[in-house]
Amino acid sequence: MKKLIIAIDGPAGAGKSTVAQIVAQRLGYTYIDTGAMYRAVTWQVMQHDVDFGDADAIQKIVSTIQIGLRYVNGKMQVTANQVDITEEIRLPEVSRVVSEVAKLVVVRTAMLTLQRQMAQSGGVVMDGRDIGTHVLPNADLKIFLTASIDERARRRWRELGDKGVLVDLNALQEEIASRDKTDSERAVAPLVQAKDAILLDTTKLSIEGAVNEILRLCEERGRSV
Ligand code: C5P
Repeated sequence: MKKLIIAIDGPAGAGKSTVAQIVAQRLGYTYIDTGAMYRAVTWQVMQHDVDFGDADAIQKIVSTIQIGLRYVNGKMQVTANQVDITEEIRLPEVSRVVSEVAKLVVVRTAMLTLQRQMAQSGGVVMDGRDIGTHVLPNADLKIFLTASIDERARRRWRELGDKGVLVDLNALQEEIASRDKTDSERAVAPLVQAKDAILLDTTKLSIEGAVNEILRLCEERGRSV
């Protein structure tokens, strides 16, 4: 079967990265978490204490950052200029501002180029907000993964709790809703379902259920390409 390019988009906390990772593992494909890339840039910007409105300073950071995404002992490791920031990029202080950094044109342009290079040889599952609409418009399969805001907030809350990060559930729900709003309303590559994407609502669907449905769709697409 031809190696497919699979794009999975959707709002925060819909389960994209969990589902995308399992799909990639089952198919022997590479998983690319583009949200982690925006988080890495945000973390780097935060280290420099730069104003988000200072396009020159942000451009300098973006042009010198080397983002690494690789599997170490079955776990995705994220580095920025060789520094392991896997845990740091998930902290609430990064989540609170990542959408402000991700809406900057200089940041998006650089990430777009990198992400297209990463997907070049096929056999990839890439998740994010604009993969099916902008980064990989010719992807073989596009999924828009969503779930109710209550369910998405609960999932993130549990995920953070498992790591010992205790946050208020209502505050988390507000942060997710605000991030979705910024991501959906930004001028460049907003969060929107691609016309040819398949909507998968995981509010009542298990991770395994979502994975199986995507694998079924892959088989269908694989036969027709
Ligand atoms: O996927 P995750 O929730 O980690 O993404 C963090 C943020 O990165 C999103 O809220 C969004 O602002 C930004 N992002 C984006 N485009 C992508 C992936 C993520 O703008 N393709």
